[in-house]
Amino acid sequence: MKNLFADRMNKVHKSFIREILKVTEDPNIISFGGGLPNPKSFPVTEIKEVVSKVLSENGEEVLQYSTTEGYLPLREYIAQRYAKEGLMVHADEILITNGSQQGIDLISKVFLNKGDNVLVEKPTYLAAIQSFGLFEPKFKSVPLLEDGADINAFQRVLDENKIKIFYSVTNFQNPTGITYSKEKRQQVAEILQNTDTIFVEDNPYGEIRFMGEDIPPVKSYLEDGILLGSFSKIVSPGMRLGWIVANKEIMDKIIIAKQASDLHSNYFTQRVVYQYLIDNDVDEHIEKIKKMYKKQRNLMVKMIEQHFPDDVNYTKPEGGMFLWVTLPEGLSSLDLFDIAIKENVAFVPGKAFFADGSGNNTLRLNFSNSNEEKIEEGIKRLGKAIYELMGK
Ligand code: PMP
Repeated sequence: MKNLFADRMNKVHKSFIREILKVTEDPNIISFGGGLPNPKSFPVTEIKEVVSKVLSENGEEVLQYSTTEGYLPLREYIAQRYAKEGLMVHADEILITNGSQQGIDLISKVFLNKGDNVLVEKPTYLAAIQSFGLFEPKFKSVPLLEDGADINAFQRVLDENKIKIFYSVTNFQNPTGITYSKEKRQQVAEILQNTDTIFVEDNPYGEIRFMGEDIPPVKSYLEDGILLGSFSKIVSPGMRLGWIVANKEIMDKIIIAKQASDLHSNYFTQRVVYQYLIDNDVDEHIEKIKKMYKKQRNLMVKMIEQHFPDDVNYTKPEGGMFLWVTLPEGLSSLDLFDIAIKENVAFVPGKAFFADGSGNNTLRLNFSNSNEEKIEEGIKRLGKAIYELMGK
């Protein structure tokens, strides 16, 4: 059987995170490993109401096939939301996807030939490595600094290589929580302007800023950039709805790829989410999520300050769901994982997020999916495990 699988399947492995998280199914383990939103934020009652409304008012229509681009009023709603932030895009430049994850897959299909260079951040979103990886590209990495990509390294890698795609998570990145400053966004746009590098800006966390000021996406400085969005973090991840914003020339190709993949995203879900958005105060809903995550983030930072050794570094994200820990050079977060599991606490070792296999001494902590009690106890346990690893 092994010889029958396509070559592309040999280069991509099962999600390391999924494998590791199997260990954490034990209810005694406090897990900061998963990348899940807090289920307490899901609008269960409101969705129940709109499901019933959509079915009773338009039952036959919403259960029918629909267009590849997605439900037009939903695309118009997304365009209007961008307009409020100052980004002008037309509904025709938006296509509804099965989460932003499908956006990465469709873009790969449209642009990548085997051996093309894909530039990612170091570290980057694990499932993007997986998704691009199926198209057998070569990965290049650009280091991340506190305010976004290291611009000198970015320029150098572009000078020395023909880069087909640069993939970036500009807000509260998964895994680091790092956000690009406005200056960095402008620099990236300026460098990529009039080049043959396609810029893919993945922004599933942008609306979850609980501190500081919103910053416009790179796309507002780089007209031909592709932008990915998602309802996963503001409504529900299980409904699997996201979108791609791209210019007409790119969109025409994406529509073909989408049609070939699945004809269109779940039409019923699109109608339900649209109805939810227009029948409810979404901004108020997002405010509630932000308040919840801010509290959880602040508590995690406070507990880390109290319980981790001083020579352990960590990010203090202004939004999103993750913070990133760097152990002193030479230590391994995989070794730490083994000790931590004995203490009944889990996280994701950072190595999985590096396309170049580095990052041995790093780890990702999720704060959105643990209550205050778990954050307090879990970080204490993790601190103890780190001291043990360091032999202190
Ligand atoms: N991009 C990034 C950076 C993510 O963190 C995630 C979710 N873990 C996704 C894309 C996929 O999200 P969606 O549910 O919209 O497919």
